[in-house]
Amino acid sequence: MQFRDLATQYNVLKEEIDRNIQSVLNNHAFINGKEVKQLETELAQYVGVKHCVACASGTDALILPLMAWGIGAGDAVFAPDFTYFASINCAMLRGATPILVDIDKRTFNMSPAALDKAIEAVIAEGKLVPKVIIPVDLFGLPAEHDSIQKIADKYNMKVLEDGAQGFGGNINGIRACSFGDAASTSFFPAKPLGCYGDGGAIFTNNDELAVALRSMRMQGSSPQDKYDNITIGLNSRLDTLQAAILLPKLHALVEHELNDVNEVAKRYTKALNGYVKTPCIPSGYSSSWAQYTILLKDKTERDGLQQYLKSKGIPSMIYYPRGMHQQSALKTLRSGMGEFPNTQNAVASCLSLPMGPYLNITEQDDVVNSVLTFLGA
Ligand SMILES: *Cc1c(COP(=O)(O)O)cnc(C)c1O
Repeated sequence: MQFRDLATQYNVLKEEIDRNIQSVLNNHAFINGKEVKQLETELAQYVGVKHCVACASGTDALILPLMAWGIGAGDAVFAPDFTYFASINCAMLRGATPILVDIDKRTFNMSPAALDKAIEAVIAEGKLVPKVIIPVDLFGLPAEHDSIQKIADKYNMKVLEDGAQGFGGNINGIRACSFGDAASTSFFPAKPLGCYGDGGAIFTNNDELAVALRSMRMQGSSPQDKYDNITIGLNSRLDTLQAAILLPKLHALVEHELNDVNEVAKRYTKALNGYVKTPCIPSGYSSSWAQYTILLKDKTERDGLQQYLKSKGIPSMIYYPRGMHQQSALKTLRSGMGEFPNTQNAVASCLSLPMGPYLNITEQDDVVNSVLTFLGA
């Protein structure tokens, strides 16, 4: 059994993917080919924003907006403690100070109450200026964007939605990657919309920001004159090949994969609810199920279950084994970082089960039965 079955997806979409790859090889427009433009147009339309700017990774999709906003030394950037390191790394690369925020223990997403408190504390201390909030749509579930936007408005801050795992989810029909001043996503192969390498995209309704991002992904070049550099930037473009691969994958995601993966989640939750803590999807929210993450009683039970599943040939992952406040790279920032009880609980007892739109019924039953057998249920 695969943890996330990319092989079956490729077999299903093989004809179209192979044809698109061959077409790029025939046209040899490997950078900025027409498939990139088409993908950007389709992504913007699906998400429901004016602009999509494709780039080289989900990490760059976080760095580029921070660059465009001039975020740097002396600025505070708020992000959840329980996330992938890129959500924090982007702020550190800019020389800004990341301020970690504890999560909501039910959803694993940034707690708006803890965020408000953390901003107040930074203001009271008077050393840093609160500038940006980076809510993460963890495991595919959109963050509490309504409450977070209200907080951003109150303190006159920008919001950068980290939708690397969130693409395909929505809140009352408003799609992930459309929240905040800008949003990022990742096309890392195992994400809800993945390519066959690295890739990412930024979404925004702001015309000026879109122009700046397009320049900054090309070394800061002028839109009129490629050899006149109007600002400082990265070399961060999405390969035409990856765009050509993503087009049929986007269509499959929209046409059936999101439904299929939600069916898997429904079956998992129905079978496991009451025996483990199953994922909480608040009313009005829809997840794209980047991960299906359960909570066990404690670390002993979690580690035991993972070992047992392994003995049955079932892969599982600990997303994540430590909070950002426990990262070695943040050692010097550690003192005075505060407490993160909900992250602590999650890192000790979380386990992500095999998941994806191509996980068949036999595999799902296998996972469920093994979990229940281990728990003596
Ligand atoms: C994967 C991921 C990223 C980074 O994406 P890459 O394409 O790997 O650079 C950023 N944030 C979160 C939450 C992620 O899961």
